Amino acid sequence: MSEHLHPVLDVRKLVKTYGQGEATVHALRGASLTVERGDYVAIMGSSGSGKSTLMNILGCLDIPTSGRYLLDGVDVSRLSDNQLALVRNRRIGFVFQSFNLIPRTSALANVELPLAYAGLKARERRRRARAALDLVGLAQRAGHEPNQLSGGQQQRVAVARALVTAPALVLADEPTGNLDTQSTADVLSVLDRLNRSGRTIVLITHEPDVAAHTKRLIRLVDGAIVEDVRQRPINDHERAVLR
Ligand code: ADP
Ligand code: MG
Repeated sequence: MSEHLHPVLDVRKLVKTYGQGEATVHALRGASLTVERGDYVAIMGSSGSGKSTLMNILGCLDIPTSGRYLLDGVDVSRLSDNQLALVRNRRIGFVFQSFNLIPRTSALANVELPLAYAGLKARERRRRARAALDLVGLAQRAGHEPNQLSGGQQQRVAVARALVTAPALVLADEPTGNLDTQSTADVLSVLDRLNRSGRTIVLITHEPDVAAHTKRLIRLVDGAIVEDVRQRPINDHERAVLR
């Protein structure tokens, strides 16, 4: 079956509890969510509402207490730890609030890193990493190390690293949380452009201005989805982009 026939994400009744007995915390209370190819989703909610818990499960960094999770049509709960690590590496690109670049290492080498596990030859890795840096407008900075780049530039390197494996899904947890206004605008314009070229993006944000860029706004309260609003349509040509 073609990958295009099923949603990128299909999660049903996700429950996540921490602890036991009286100390039990209900971090997710049956969240269900489908994300189509080409969508651009913001998840908002106050502190403690379950955003990071949901993100960690969507990113295969954690498993739910119960519920079903299909990523690109694959039931993640049936995978072994090794298979899960492969899924994380190839199917999902992560962007974190704190960039998480490797210090004293060039932008190009940082972007190449996820490809090192994929068994690609050095020349091909370099070619793809350069293309990803070009996409985020940093081809000229390939040789710079993180401390020679501004916060906004570092985050764009992190975005290049997230997309170099051509993942089905880019997950971003407060990607502009540490950035000034101009850098926020730069990073958002990169994410907007990536989405227009067909990437599926899910981002967590506290900022209404950031959420306003997306096509769909989801609100979490106490581990439940209380609002799910389509802000813009998914264009057919975006949905149909082959990657
Ligand atoms: P958010 O990211 O929206 O701030 P979280 O997903 O981090 O929310 O947390 C949701 C709830 O689960 C909170 O009450 C939090 O204290 C609790 N929680 C998160 N992680 C753990 C953990 N590892 N152990 C116990 N409780 C946790
Ligand atoms: Mg959080």
